[in-house]
Amino acid sequence: MKVLKFGGTSVGTVESLGNVKKIINSLDTPAVVVVSALGGLTDKLIATASLAASGCDDYRVEMTKIRERHDNVIEGVIAPESVEDCKAKVHPLLDELARLYDGVSLIGDVPAKTLDAIVSFGERISSIIVNMMIPESSHLNSLDIIKTEKWFGKNIAEANLTNRNIVDNFKPQMGHPIIVGGFISTDKDSGEITNLGRGGSDFTAALIAAALDADELEIWTDVDGFMTSDPRIIPDARIIPIMSFVESMELCSFGAKVIYPPTIYPVFHKNIPIKILNTFNPEAPGTLIKDFSHKELAHHGRVRGLSALKGVAVINVHGNAAQNVASISSRTFNALAKNGINVFLVSPTEDNDCFSFALKEADLDAALNIVKSEFAPEFSAGDIAEIDFIKGLSIVAIVGEEILQGGFISPRIINTLERASVSPAAISEGASKTTVTFAVPDEHTNLTLQLIHSLFF
Ligand code: ASP
Ligand code: MG
Repeated sequence: MKVLKFGGTSVGTVESLGNVKKIINSLDTPAVVVVSALGGLTDKLIATASLAASGCDDYRVEMTKIRERHDNVIEGVIAPESVEDCKAKVHPLLDELARLYDGVSLIGDVPAKTLDAIVSFGERISSIIVNMMIPESSHLNSLDIIKTEKWFGKNIAEANLTNRNIVDNFKPQMGHPIIVGGFISTDKDSGEITNLGRGGSDFTAALIAAALDADELEIWTDVDGFMTSDPRIIPDARIIPIMSFVESMELCSFGAKVIYPPTIYPVFHKNIPIKILNTFNPEAPGTLIKDFSHKELAHHGRVRGLSALKGVAVINVHGNAAQNVASISSRTFNALAKNGINVFLVSPTEDNDCFSFALKEADLDAALNIVKSEFAPEFSAGDIAEIDFIKGLSIVAIVGEEILQGGFISPRIINTLERASVSPAAISEGASKTTVTFAVPDEHTNLTLQLIHSLFF
């Protein structure tokens, strides 16, 4: 069996839903179909909530547009004799959404829980529409199946219960396509509506593929595949025909928007291949991500792709204590991880008395406090002289399983950058076997990508 996931643009219009229907109707294996909300709707649901909270009555106008958009799609894709049936299922949900907006307007605030309930309507409704568009399909409610738990104030998927629920609910229905909404979930204890984070429909699809031991996970989107870099920045970026799980994971965690990063873990773990395919050009071969051999990967070149992550800061810890890299790095990472803060890159700089690491700018203030309190003893003993930071950086990642074969590549890159007067604030080569990362000032990100792309592709 396979799992197919259709993103927002794929289910966004009557025309694109026509393509989705053809793709589902031509399936020759049992399948689970995971759908996002209609393209752009999640943003609209959030913006309308803010509008209602701000005391502006225009939220009612927006709510009317949301209703009209769904009605137009229903009238465009559902067989005429079933249009009223479909509206009878969808309208009560839209009414409930309108009542939530009235509540938000009344209290002048959108509590996080209410916002989670509001955004859930996107996938609840789109999955009903797709189900009714494919008469032989069945529908399951992801709110009953995908469970989350709290982790440092965030909702994260609870694997055991979710796995069991997926097996119990999907296995008996296997045969005809089963349609399910992505992204949305409920808390395992309170039953309150939650979600897996923006872009989380990919993750829903991966959890289902892994739990059901699918033969393949297909991510249907609006591009021909994973590209060597962002084509808006690099016009001659190309499609990457094959890549390993690790390469896709690294590119996505460093900013490539193709797949929501957590998606890859569950399928990687079960060795289930992922295909990136284009709903608007279904004949295109796309990108195949699987456990390729080193030989196969090397055949396609040493560098697989480049990506960039903006809004990054680097923290530098100066002093004698920084010389003991093993101890200082493990203490730093543990202290930060305990507070849910991720660290991206460790840069063994030339300066032996300085230990540097990068993180999201949004985590900077919290991280500085944590690091200062972790090293308070060294601070008072004078073993740490100063902790400072640089803001406004981007991390540029150069990814490829074979990247370190045949010698280090940093000198070549640094030369190219220096000729263009770009000086990286930090470099990391060798910390990961598949990725070389540079921190450069935000305003040099695009130029850096262009220079490195023309060096390797
Ligand atoms: N609709 C959600 C979002 O826009 C989830 C998804 O599309 O993957 O973030
Ligand atoms: Mg997406």
